[in-house]
Amino acid sequence: MAVRRGHVIVIPHAAQGHLAPLMKLSLQIAAHGVKVTLVNTEFIHEKVMASLPAKALEEDQRPPISLVSIPDGLEADDDRRDYVKMTESMRRVMPGHFMKLIENINSRSNGDEKISCVLADTAAGWALEVAEKMGIKRAAVLLSGPASMALALHVPKLVEAGILDSDGTLKTDEPITLSEDIPSWSSSELSWSCSDDPVMQKLLFAYVSTAAKTFKFAEQILCNSFHELDPAAMKLIPKALPIGPFSTTNHFETFAGNLWPEDSTCLTWLDKQTPGSVIYVALGSTTMLSPNQVGELALGLELTALPFLWVVRSNMTDGSTAEFPKGFMERVADRAKLVQWAPQEKVLAHPSVSCFLSHCGWNSTIEGLTIGVPFLCWPYFADQFHNRTYICDVWKIGLGLEKDENGIITRNELSSKINTLLSSDEIKANSFQLKGVARKSVAEGGSSFKNFKGFIDQI
Ligand code: UDP
Repeated sequence: MAVRRGHVIVIPHAAQGHLAPLMKLSLQIAAHGVKVTLVNTEFIHEKVMASLPAKALEEDQRPPISLVSIPDGLEADDDRRDYVKMTESMRRVMPGHFMKLIENINSRSNGDEKISCVLADTAAGWALEVAEKMGIKRAAVLLSGPASMALALHVPKLVEAGILDSDGTLKTDEPITLSEDIPSWSSSELSWSCSDDPVMQKLLFAYVSTAAKTFKFAEQILCNSFHELDPAAMKLIPKALPIGPFSTTNHFETFAGNLWPEDSTCLTWLDKQTPGSVIYVALGSTTMLSPNQVGELALGLELTALPFLWVVRSNMTDGSTAEFPKGFMERVADRAKLVQWAPQEKVLAHPSVSCFLSHCGWNSTIEGLTIGVPFLCWPYFADQFHNRTYICDVWKIGLGLEKDENGIITRNELSSKINTLLSSDEIKANSFQLKGVARKSVAEGGSSFKNFKGFIDQI
């Protein structure tokens, strides 16, 4: 490894979809000889350590980064799914702990070991304010798609023009358009839109509205995307530096930043399946389905008569463990594999996988498109609806599932869309083509490769 220069401190927001990509980025930076300290809340840190496979703690497997933690201000048994309480507490106590942590590191370090750069998740923008106060170089890391951020940055103008009200509700029948090359947002596709929960919508909108302020403190915005993927949206984000897709450093792949232990038995199961036959079903870390919807999904998968690998998290249904229709497990036993948490990128890259039934979270979107797997889109929340529009209408690498009049995605909808997806040569060809562009961007001489190298040179 090259001689270490500089010391970067990385701070993700306390959630699976934020930690995993920042873990990857930290390992990528460390691979260039830069010292990296990654800061989690104590609650998340404990989960990460408990989810590591035993071999990850062996001397030669330890990652070249320090994993440390600070309090989030809540009690051990407080409900961390209470978004309001959680964000209020983190915002109140974490800046002070973060500043103290940097002071401690600096007081016992010399020269190159002192913190030279703060990298903060855009959802932990307060860390950039701390960095500015302390006179440290700083960059924000954008973990959603560029279009969502472009929209967030336009919020003040949209409110001023009366297009949005102060709670984020669209006041006209016209969708929001930022540029003719970016798909418009209908009212249900706005990343803060929650028609059935106005209090939540208000909160999310207040959070999204702070984007411009966060960006003021950042000297650069590192994006987990590549320029060619969405040049029009990238143009609307000042200081954007696309350096993605962030990639797993093979040697330290056990350090995936998981909050649940990975069940790698699904890889040996995949080895036994026919190439290009398996439907991979994973709806991210927070999606929740009604028991009725879980049943329809199960019956839809059964109806396809194809093998499937389904990630069924213990908290996938609200308050109860998932229950499958009577006899389902017995009927599909010879062609189904269910796990609580999968090594997703390895699964997607497995030759047995044919398609990805996804909730379209940005990480899953960028992982699936980089590996070249066609999507079946089932968005649930936030920016996932607009990501679906990109997947289906802009890149044309997948199909969307439609709900029926009762708000359910039925077994027939599922099975017929899977059949249509798998027989589409056009979607397969587009997926293959986009994968090539993604790979080229991070290969030597590519756009993200050059941007990342420039960033490393600066720190
Ligand atoms: N993931 C995983 N195993 C699973 C399901 C998901 O490793 O069984 C990872 C996935 O690779 C991605 C992250 O969890 O990196 C989910 O992030 P995303 O933005 O797609 O969705 P979120 O969980 O934030 O809704």
